[in-house]
Amino acid sequence: MTKPIKRNILLNPGPSTTTDTVKYAQIVPDICPREEEFASLMKGIRDDLVKIVHGDPKKYTAVPFCGSGTICMDITLNSLVPEEKKVLVVHNGAYSERACEILDGYHIPYIDFKQSLYEPPSLDELDKALNENPDVAVVYATHHETGSGLLNPIREIGRIAHKHDAIFITDTTSSYAMIPIDIEKDNIDFCMASAQKGIQGMTGLSYVIGRKDLINISKDYPTRSYYCNLYLQYEFFEKTGQMHFTPPVQTIYAARQALDEYFSEGESEKWSRHQHIISAIREGADRLGFKELLDRKNQSSLVSAIRYPDDPNWDFDKVHDYCYERGFTIYPGKLENTGSFRLCALGAIDAPDIESFWEVFEAALKENRVQIPAKYTEE
Ligand SMILES: *Cc1c(COP(=O)(O)O)cnc(C)c1O
Repeated sequence: MTKPIKRNILLNPGPSTTTDTVKYAQIVPDICPREEEFASLMKGIRDDLVKIVHGDPKKYTAVPFCGSGTICMDITLNSLVPEEKKVLVVHNGAYSERACEILDGYHIPYIDFKQSLYEPPSLDELDKALNENPDVAVVYATHHETGSGLLNPIREIGRIAHKHDAIFITDTTSSYAMIPIDIEKDNIDFCMASAQKGIQGMTGLSYVIGRKDLINISKDYPTRSYYCNLYLQYEFFEKTGQMHFTPPVQTIYAARQALDEYFSEGESEKWSRHQHIISAIREGADRLGFKELLDRKNQSSLVSAIRYPDDPNWDFDKVHDYCYERGFTIYPGKLENTGSFRLCALGAIDAPDIESFWEVFEAALKENRVQIPAKYTEE
């Protein structure tokens, strides 16, 4: 085949490291996406996106859009709320905060169900909040809060939502195609993801996966956006097999290749690879004395948010730059008022890449005279 491309190890929370075969899948003859050939490519991709979460193809569909992952948060929130009804947002991280901002932007009323950023939400309080607010039609939660690594119990949240006759939307952008999900058993009505994360594809393609019957019902809900409306895009796909407007053509060819690689690796094999990566991340952190923000029992096992040490020589940018120049990208954390950086177990990497990373990171600490083991003042 073709020349290998410089391999960077991305430990940021997406886009993630891709294989060369996925990168080269973008190099295809020019094609007009209105051709039949392209429509059949789209159909295969939509079917496979439902298959990843074990959805019954009679009940569930995948609706792709051109945009980054946030577009799916926007689409589900603006398209699936009936007039005069409310959303309840389980708010415990940077991404559920973003969901609140989207609802503010559309002037859609919501209950801001604020919870600790460090541990799963109280299900009793959720039940109570829904009892007190019978006008809630949609419960929204982030599966994996990527800013901190917190994992939310979506199956239980979905069950409580359904008990109160609300639908359940969950942002699975940073868990889909990594943590095994069963859309029906997990009580999910709609979930979402983006090609640059779990499937290890390119940026620019994102998808909502959910119930056909509910999309059809949403036809009569207020149209709050023209470009980002779930029903309009779904209807166009059903009629023509195509995206309503120009799709990200080359990204879609890469997604096809990435999906093939996903299925040949296998759901449980892929999930255990991610676990090997996170174990290697934790081993290195422990060895160098770095502490995490969250208890491991509350983590997704896909992101480790590490506290900045209390060391006058610690300078995230300097350590970042040292690692970056050597092919490793680390990323700042996203929790209010707490200095942290993140190491993410996403992408086409494995434990040995992490071992190489820790060698470089340790050298960066030495170069900057940061104390090893890392020092923290209060415990
Ligand atoms: C990455 C991510 C998104 C989407 O972010 P974009 O920058 O728009 O791609 C949404 N939700 C979660 C939980 C994410 O991790």
